[in-house]
Amino acid sequence: MPLSLYDTMAREKRPFVPVDPQRVTMYVCGPTVYNYAHIGNARPVVVFDVLFRLLRHTYGEGAVLYAANVTDVDDKINAKALAEGVPIDVITDRYLGIYNRDMATLGALPPTFQPRATQTMDAIIAMIGVLIDKGAAYAAEGHVLFSTGAYPDYGQLSGRSLEDMIAGARVDVAPYKRNPADFVLWKPSKPGEPMWDSPWGQGRPGWHIECSAMIEQTLGLPIDIHGGGNDLIFPHHENELAQGVCAAHGCEAGHGQDYARYWMHNGFLNFGAEKMSKSLGNVVLVHDLVKQTPGEAVRWALLVGHYRAPQEWSGDLLEQSRKSLDRLYGALRRAADLAPGPCEPAPRFLAALEDDLNTAQAMAELFVLASVLETGDEAARVKAKGELLASGALLGFLQADPEVWFQGDADPQLKARVEALIANRIAARTAKDWSRADAIRDELNALNVVVMDSADGATWRLKEPS
Ligand code: AMP
Ligand code: ZN
Repeated sequence: MPLSLYDTMAREKRPFVPVDPQRVTMYVCGPTVYNYAHIGNARPVVVFDVLFRLLRHTYGEGAVLYAANVTDVDDKINAKALAEGVPIDVITDRYLGIYNRDMATLGALPPTFQPRATQTMDAIIAMIGVLIDKGAAYAAEGHVLFSTGAYPDYGQLSGRSLEDMIAGARVDVAPYKRNPADFVLWKPSKPGEPMWDSPWGQGRPGWHIECSAMIEQTLGLPIDIHGGGNDLIFPHHENELAQGVCAAHGCEAGHGQDYARYWMHNGFLNFGAEKMSKSLGNVVLVHDLVKQTPGEAVRWALLVGHYRAPQEWSGDLLEQSRKSLDRLYGALRRAADLAPGPCEPAPRFLAALEDDLNTAQAMAELFVLASVLETGDEAARVKAKGELLASGALLGFLQADPEVWFQGDADPQLKARVEALIANRIAARTAKDWSRADAIRDELNALNVVVMDSADGATWRLKEPS
């Protein structure tokens, strides 16, 4: 079955046809690096990592170019640098390093390119110059603004008219703007803030133009897929599209498809009734989470619902996710001696993913394969094991040794000691000797071990030092 993807611009699922199947391109808006990433920020990373893997499976590993950018010019970065008394690159290098390590623990492959705004400054300034030359932008009071009135298709992606945007006060009014919806391409820096030379004075770029310039510089136009969270549809992606089209083709209508062929947006991860956000103070940091929980279980939790639907984040979701992986790894552990058949994803699994990344259905298929592995005849089990491993790999799951999944990365002496304690604990519980069972639990705690009971028996992991 051919791949089909929901396109925000078309407002429907469309068969995916890349411009050039030998060079499939995808760009996803990445983090602003001034702090630890929260679990909501990880959702687009994991979702588009699945798409990256699926595209590589379909078109070949070398045929897919994936750029995930980093915003390293921003007011929040400046504020943090000022507070610590260091240059901004000390802040951005530190948090980019942490971000990349945290995303790797969630099984995200490194993107082909990770462009940074500060390293794209020449292309940004050149693009602003082109927009002015084409009459799509104007300089005023040290700023350069995009002229939304010059682009008749403005609002096409988000489905908003200019009047709606102004009436909804979604735009900043400023005296130097010809139209309230016009947005900043370049602005002066305040004293002490980082600044770059430009024909319009020393300053720094607006956020939207950074992405348009990074796309042109790393991938070239048109790209096949542009992704991000659905909070970015307006204004960020609407503005990127307007600039990108006007710079590359001029502002006349009808070039919407010449910037990005498919626009994809993940739904939000919510916490209780609220969206998770730093300003609401209800954030769960990936960095903290993976100290307590295997990254693979966090990844499972992020993929168990459909990527376009909102997802509720909870401890229960995480616990269920770990149990699901226990079940699959348990089946693989019991089949440790069986040589797997050809490592090809199962057809029904692949069909689910190809239907606009139906990960929920694809993950359900993993359980079907695990049941065959446990109960089928010899030939069926051999085939199921190969398919389970290959299907798991396509989603970034089940690649650990099952023994390592269940027992952590402990040294053999500690492992033997923990296992003896767990066996004694089970014996004490069976004998209803609760005080002895509790004493053993305390001893395990002191060894920094978390024991988790599940239908597949007790499993354990080392807590990482916080
Ligand atoms: P930011 O660092 O806020 O610019 O976000 C980086 C990426 O994470 C963007 O693609 C956002 O759309 C996405 N994002 C931020 N918060 C959430 C959330 N709570 N749920 C899902 N995606 C999010
Ligand atoms: Zn962007």
